Amino acid sequence: MDYRHKLIENIGEKRYEHSLRVMETAGKLAEIYGADRSKVKTAAILHDCAKYSSKIGLLKKIDDFDIILDNIWKNNLGILHGPIGAKVAEEEYGVSDVEILDAIYYHSTGRINMSILDKIIYIADYIEPKRNYPRIETIRAMAFEDLNMSILMAMNDTILYLVENNRLIHPNTLEARNQLILEIYN
Ligand code: FE
Ligand code: FE
Repeated sequence: MDYRHKLIENIGEKRYEHSLRVMETAGKLAEIYGADRSKVKTAAILHDCAKYSSKIGLLKKIDDFDIILDNIWKNNLGILHGPIGAKVAEEEYGVSDVEILDAIYYHSTGRINMSILDKIIYIADYIEPKRNYPRIETIRAMAFEDLNMSILMAMNDTILYLVENNRLIHPNTLEARNQLILEIYN
C-alpha cells in the first residue's frame, strides 16, 4: 500500500519527510540487528500517522475509536499520538501485524520488554539525520554499536528534559529504562 498521499494529507509534508528519514535510519539499523526489514519500514513510515497538524484531529480519534487511556497519556499531547497512531494504522492504513502496531503504540514512551522492532523505531525516531538534541552525535553513533545503550542514553536525556521542565513522565518510560539497565549491567 502506498501511504504517501494519505500521510501528507493528515500530518503534512514536513512530518512526512521526518517519517521518511526515520524509515531510512530504521532500515540501516534493521540490517545491523537482524530485524524484519519490511516490518521495520512499515512501522517507521507510519509511526507518526496520528501526529495530526491540528490537536482537534488527535482528540477526535480518541472519540472515534473509543480509545481508553490513563491520565498520563491523556494529559500529555506529546506522547498521545503513539497509542492513537497504532489504532489509526490498524483502522485506516490496514495494518494488522501486532508487532508493527506495538512499535507505533510505544514509540513515544518505550515500554518494558521492548521488542527489537520497538527499539529500532524508538531510536531511529530519536537519531534521524535532522534531529538536533544535546549529545545527538554520541547517541547516533551508539545506536549502531549498542542498541540498548543508545536507548538508555536517549531515555536519560528525555527524562532529564521532562524533569527540568516540570513535565509528566509516563511510567512506561521508567519501566523501559529500568529494564534496559538490568539488561545492560547484568
Ligand atoms: Fe512520534
Ligand atoms: Fe517521529
